[in-house]
Amino acid sequence: MKTRFETAFLKAVKKHAAIKKAVQKKVDMIIENPVALGEPLKGNWQGFYSCPVKRNFIIIYLYCEACRKKGDDAVVACSECSHTPDKTIKFVLLGPHDKAYGI
Ligand SMILES: [Zn+2]
Repeated sequence: MKTRFETAFLKAVKKHAAIKKAVQKKVDMIIENPVALGEPLKGNWQGFYSCPVKRNFIIIYLYCEACRKKGDDAVVACSECSHTPDKTIKFVLLGPHDKAYGI
């Protein structure tokens, strides 16, 4: 499995240092099983998955194999999707549930 961490995700991890360990643990779990752990998002976030870390905190990520299965890469906002292997997970965002969706 390949992993990529977007700048916004890394910044959020720094900002929420108190839950860094919980995030790391969850990231490892997602890498093991991205589809089973993620809840597919809809609307503007179509193609993205979310996974709760703690209470309201969620991780938002993309799994390129899933991007492609959907067959609508144009809709899924996965940058450079066509250049990454199927087994790629991109960690996009981390944050409180409401705020993460609000961006
Ligand atoms: Zn993708």
